[in-house]
Amino acid sequence: MKIRSAVLREMVAEGPFADSKPLVISELELAPPGPGEVLVKMIAAGLCHSDLSVITGVRPRPLPMALGHEASGEVVEVGSGVDNVRPGQKVALVFVPSCGHCSPCMEGRPALCEPGNGANGKGELLQGGHRLSHAGATVNHHCGVSAFSEYAVVSARSCIPIGDDIDPVEAAVFGCAVLTGVGAVVNTGQVRPGASALIVGLGGVGLSALLGALAAGANPIVAVDVHDSKLDLTLALGATHVVNARDADAVARIRELTKGGVDYAFEFAGSVPAMQLAYAATRRGGTTVTAGLPHPNDQWPLQQLSLTAEERTIKGSYIGSCIPARDIPRYVGLYRAGKLPVNRLIGEKLKLDDINAGFDRLASGSGLRDLIVF
Ligand code: ZN
Ligand code: ZN
Repeated sequence: MKIRSAVLREMVAEGPFADSKPLVISELELAPPGPGEVLVKMIAAGLCHSDLSVITGVRPRPLPMALGHEASGEVVEVGSGVDNVRPGQKVALVFVPSCGHCSPCMEGRPALCEPGNGANGKGELLQGGHRLSHAGATVNHHCGVSAFSEYAVVSARSCIPIGDDIDPVEAAVFGCAVLTGVGAVVNTGQVRPGASALIVGLGGVGLSALLGALAAGANPIVAVDVHDSKLDLTLALGATHVVNARDADAVARIRELTKGGVDYAFEFAGSVPAMQLAYAATRRGGTTVTAGLPHPNDQWPLQQLSLTAEERTIKGSYIGSCIPARDIPRYVGLYRAGKLPVNRLIGEKLKLDDINAGFDRLASGSGLRDLIVF
């Protein structure tokens, strides 16, 4: 079938993208779903920093690539052997399809699935190969999803049903921002009620982590960003304190507010200074979690002695250490109950044709989670 899709043909290091238009709205050919695959009609797709990192070349991917990895959709058709979804169901899409058989999958860590991440790196689907083409030439899939497209063929392993009683547009954020942010707090950090928490970097993932920390009963919760507008929003969402990272005494203030440092610090900015701040603001015996995606060449200098002498823990968190089929229904349940108001993280709703300007907004760091609505 013919579909319209936002395709990255060449990386562009810097904006304004509204002028350079790195994403070209193209008519592509989409092959039908094979065994274990699903045809999904896209409902909404989020603009995420991981997409921006592919556009700018910070995370190089094989090109041309149909971008987008955070989305909700409706199942249109299923291939043979698919038993977890059926046509007509609304689904959230997950950007690492898990095979269920490799070592990480068998250890209950499907976010680290080896074939799933391998396929993503090659721009292929989990079952191998491509279903997208343009004038007979292959177009790569982004994270097995390619969400900035009217339709997508994805692995059934990328689909999690979300039910019909929530707004399917807002549900787009569950697949990346919510899974990553809430999961960093409840799965990777395992924050306990009454523990203090620090959230560094208030994009879609960081704000989701804030909601996760509130749901987990963390107190106090300190939020850090470089944009004052984000800090105001964070207070309205329930953070107890906010600190601008540009303040020279930011770490000292956090340590003072939390009587010697936080029990759990979470870094989502994907930068070395943000990680240094998060680590420096963690108390003796505390845990620092990072889910940011810095440039692959970035190195973080660490005083090794502090790990021993202060019994520190540092943890990496990829997609919130999630088990998608377990966690997305849990987070949707909390959303339904009013305990995870992810609708408050959503900014502008854009048309596919406005996507390049949307990435300018994202790059400015001042907006909320913007969605392409189909
Ligand atoms: Zn993302
Ligand atoms: Zn696996």
